[in-house]
Amino acid sequence: MSIPKPVSLAGMPGVSATGIPESLRASRPVIQARDVNKVYASGTVALQDATLDIREGEFVSLLGPSGCGKSTLLRIMAGLGDITAGSVKWWEQDYSVVGDKGRKLAFVFQSATLMPWARVEDNVRLPLDLEQVKSAEAGAKVQKALDMVGLAKFGQSFPRELSGGMQMRASIARALVTEPDLLLMDEPFGALDEMTRNKLNDDILRLWQANGWTIVFVTHSVYEAVYLSSRVVVMAARPGRIVEEITIDEPFPRGADFRVSQSFAGYCRRVSESLEKASAMGADGQAEEH
Ligand code: ADP
Repeated sequence: MSIPKPVSLAGMPGVSATGIPESLRASRPVIQARDVNKVYASGTVALQDATLDIREGEFVSLLGPSGCGKSTLLRIMAGLGDITAGSVKWWEQDYSVVGDKGRKLAFVFQSATLMPWARVEDNVRLPLDLEQVKSAEAGAKVQKALDMVGLAKFGQSFPRELSGGMQMRASIARALVTEPDLLLMDEPFGALDEMTRNKLNDDILRLWQANGWTIVFVTHSVYEAVYLSSRVVVMAARPGRIVEEITIDEPFPRGADFRVSQSFAGYCRRVSESLEKASAMGADGQAEEH
């Protein structure tokens, strides 16, 4: 599937846009979150009235200061944990029937979380073992996933023998091995050096485009969010909430040229301003006076 070019709703690239790219609005909703509230037992309001749609083929980043509820929202999309109020649908259904409909979600954590005693291929095979996939079929799927992330030759290695970037690749392969319909990534590259992060950004974009995946990606980095996303969702903390959605109206594939373009700089400025406003917001939802 080719990914249609997102269109700025405001018609002013790099200046102002909100919502789902027009070209993807006709695609099926994958997630429909409506007025979602999440209050932890401690009393922390991690999410207040979060309403968000994710459509098939989108690459959406959740961006915001620490504690604004990005991970909480991502975990809710993964069907992990209850919500306090509101509703969430997956492919217009309740979570309980997602598996029955043959839909799969996969989650990539902040750290690689590989089993240190198991070889890379056994780590990647884990979700298939849990699904009791037959050995020959599982072996082929593991090899395909390792191929995708550039680790074809490292299946027999142990995690300690890999660099941080390669460990994260293995972790991504473990998510991809089930051929998920929705890939949820919680700051997967946050601990990596910039060059490795850029390389992995390029790889994940290439895979996303080639396979027509839907990805929701949590990040702290404005640059990473702008580079990767068809849409950036900016969030604020205390209480955690969505404050703005910015369409990144740039064609894919994106590469080194985009990173040094005026357009990239313009989007980064635009998203940074939104983030600064979000970071300065007080509990009443208004920007605080300084
Ligand atoms: P982010 O990913 O944006 O940093 P989180 O979703 O991790 O934000 O957290 C949002 C808020 O909820 C924070 O104040 C955090 O301390 C709180 N929080 C997160 N998880 C829990 C939990 N399991 N129990 C209590 N509070 C939590």
